[in-house]
Amino acid sequence: MSDCIFCAIAEKEIPSNIVYEDEEIICFHDLSPQAPVHVLIIPKKHFTSLDDVSECASDKELLGHLLSKVHVIAEMLGLENGYRLVNNCGEDGYQTVPHLHFHLLGKRKLTWPPG
Ligand code: 5GP
Ligand code: ZN
Repeated sequence: MSDCIFCAIAEKEIPSNIVYEDEEIICFHDLSPQAPVHVLIIPKKHFTSLDDVSECASDKELLGHLLSKVHVIAEMLGLENGYRLVNNCGEDGYQTVPHLHFHLLGKRKLTWPPG
């Protein structure tokens, strides 16, 4: 069993409600949704946070791939009226799970600024 909860989800060692998956990324419903639609999109490769992403071609390709799938996943989830993509990085960013992930939230009118 992986020490990292999101690696364990990506490796199917622990169950999750999967929305989308391909070779490089996986998207699943958040355990504690903060909006009617709240999913997490993660690279299967372990990065602790955005601070862990390098400028090497493979990291850039992987993160570009992930971002290119956001609108595909949003469409699958019926977020035709808009959505928010969030990354919490580090302690001040309120990151609680140390595996890079992007929150995709929608199906309600979100406010700004965040808390
Ligand atoms: P963070 O605060 O790191 O940006 O967000 C971590 C998110 O992961 C939280 O929204 C939390 O609800 C979610 N989460 C934590 N543990 C699990 C889990 O085991 N399964 C799922 N599906 N979500 C989780
Ligand atoms: Zn991990």
